[in-house]
Amino acid sequence: MNYAEIKYNDIANGIGVRTSLFVSGCTHHCKECFNPMTWDFAYGKVFNKEVEDAIIESLKPAYISGLTMLGGEPMEPFNQEALLPFYKRVRSECPGKTIWIYSGYTWEQLNDPTFTRAYTPFTSEILSLADILVDGEFVLEKKSLGLRFRGSSNQRIIDVPATLAAGEIVLSEYSNR
Ligand code: SF4
Repeated sequence: MNYAEIKYNDIANGIGVRTSLFVSGCTHHCKECFNPMTWDFAYGKVFNKEVEDAIIESLKPAYISGLTMLGGEPMEPFNQEALLPFYKRVRSECPGKTIWIYSGYTWEQLNDPTFTRAYTPFTSEILSLADILVDGEFVLEKKSLGLRFRGSSNQRIIDVPATLAAGEIVLSEYSNR
């Protein structure tokens, strides 16, 4: 897997001060995508152990709230397989830090075994390791600059642990701020 960019001390993509990883590869091709160069899976640099280590280190200070995954599309099947071991590392080596994942796929698509464009043997475990899923494609007609942490009003900020426990979508407390 390749990645386009890492933003350290990012305050725009989730609660608190975060490390944000923008992976390469996205098949959604939303109109007026904010990051079209990342559609290409070969764009950017190789995501290797040194990069993982640097991100893990960056998450350790007490003032860092967690990791945010964007793209590109972190939930493309190819990227899911590459990222699952990384999510496990973050969980085991960075206790107390949150994981936010931005995906153009919806919660329903990611939990539908017949939706093979996004559902893989890795998907459920990845979601079980996440705190927040911001889901859905960017829809230009629903764009709103007043929305916090998302670009268009169709996108939802989903509390993943609460959703898994309830068996239905539970929106995050951050949805209305
Ligand atoms: S899902 Fe995100 S990266 Fe992919 S085309 Fe849409 S806005 Fe761009």
